[in-house]
Amino acid sequence: MPARYIHNAHFYIDGSFANQVRGLLVENGKIARLLQTGDGIDPAWEKTDLQGSWAYPGFIDAHTHSFSGGLYEDGVDLAGCASIEEVLSLLSAAARQQRELLIGWRFDEGRIREKRFPSVKELDSVCPDARLLLRRVDGHSCVLNSLAREAIPGLGGRDEVLIAQDNDLAVNWLQDNCSEETILAAYHSAARTALRGGFTAIHTMIGDAQMSVQHYQLIRDRRAEFPVRFELYPQSFDVDAALELGAKRIGGCILADGSIGSRTAALDKPYADSATKGRLYQSDGFWADFVSRAHQNGLQVCVHCIGDAAIRQLNRAYALHPSSEVRELRHQLIHCEVTPDGLISGIAASGAVPVMQPAFDLLWGGDSGLYAQRLGERWQSMNRFRTLARKGIRVCGSSDWYVTDLNIAMSLHALIHHHNPDERLTPAEAIKVYTENNAWLNHEENLRGRIAEGMQADLSAMDTDFTRPFDWRACRSNFIIRAGELVYASDKA
Ligand SMILES: [Zn+2]
Ligand SMILES: [Zn+2]
Repeated sequence: MPARYIHNAHFYIDGSFANQVRGLLVENGKIARLLQTGDGIDPAWEKTDLQGSWAYPGFIDAHTHSFSGGLYEDGVDLAGCASIEEVLSLLSAAARQQRELLIGWRFDEGRIREKRFPSVKELDSVCPDARLLLRRVDGHSCVLNSLAREAIPGLGGRDEVLIAQDNDLAVNWLQDNCSEETILAAYHSAARTALRGGFTAIHTMIGDAQMSVQHYQLIRDRRAEFPVRFELYPQSFDVDAALELGAKRIGGCILADGSIGSRTAALDKPYADSATKGRLYQSDGFWADFVSRAHQNGLQVCVHCIGDAAIRQLNRAYALHPSSEVRELRHQLIHCEVTPDGLISGIAASGAVPVMQPAFDLLWGGDSGLYAQRLGERWQSMNRFRTLARKGIRVCGSSDWYVTDLNIAMSLHALIHHHNPDERLTPAEAIKVYTENNAWLNHEENLRGRIAEGMQADLSAMDTDFTRPFDWRACRSNFIIRAGELVYASDKA
């Protein structure tokens, strides 16, 4: 492979753009030299012109649900609809594209003139030939067309609008029973979204969060076909399956508790707007056994925990093992949102790693946000990026896409502008979260996360200098480069 010269960009090196580097020489996918003004350029080198972009080490998102995200991306966003007629016309247009499963999402009957869901008959009239799933904005209810209803075993005779277990059954069955073609199309769609959002790599959860790892093997065997790098998580409780698949980790959004919005996150003290404290989904003994089995087999353990009671429960299970080993395996506390000071000291002591979602604070933080409604003053001790970092804890970052947008500018903005000024990171610290820290989470600190000689030539070339104030909604990725090869160029670039 000929050497390649990547040039005409500002390069983010050692935490800033203040350097004389004018280009990178790439050999065999790695950065062989940082070239400065005055260094000779060999005319035999192939050239990649980044057109004045701001080039960062490839941004990595440490936690996404790519399959659902990709299915949604290929589906229909119904958020803007004001009538049943509008919903039906959008679905009808999408149904013409001949696919197996069509998902309408972010439907909100409260914003619809008729104040109701479309009927099965109405859905059949616009989408007779594909399974159609229309999900309410919160994911807790749905309607199906007849083709989908008839396909799902055990749904006969239920109401048209499915709730609770019927809703879960329908959504899980439809997503579990897609053809290979549909699955691969969803991941390709996820990959395009990631590149557009500025990422070279995204960690992605595959599995039903119970005992199935779904299509893990299919994606593992075809990873090289995707323009973005997928880091795979067998999202289940099945340790044997993870080991058989050769995975180096287990888990993802396997649940220690629920969510703040639905008041199912497990808290030490009751919610501010209800007498409940949420609840722990599993016992201490369950987590101790699960973590031990995975830990002893050398697997990195990854668990969803949002409330302080759930985070403490998981941290206790991690703390049963020497902190040096927990640090080496990098066991994850995913979300890690409600964290009073004492709990932060406990996390520092156990060696566990918080994998956090800055956009959660952006969307739901602040005096008048959802978190303040649910938790009162406690919203201030949520998503404590700065306090965790000051305790020497390495914070990792993600979007939890499809939950929030897969967009590096939004995530960095949220870290820099936390609603609580005491929890804000500097721009350099924020960039480090999505580069060095997330590479480290994947045991790749010597391969990715920095622009330096010997590192993999993965670059996110953006139109924005994130070390200065920026409007995240206006930021774009111009080029994405993996191992020295251009895998994405925006239309504008
Ligand atoms: Zn989760
Ligand atoms: Zn998640």
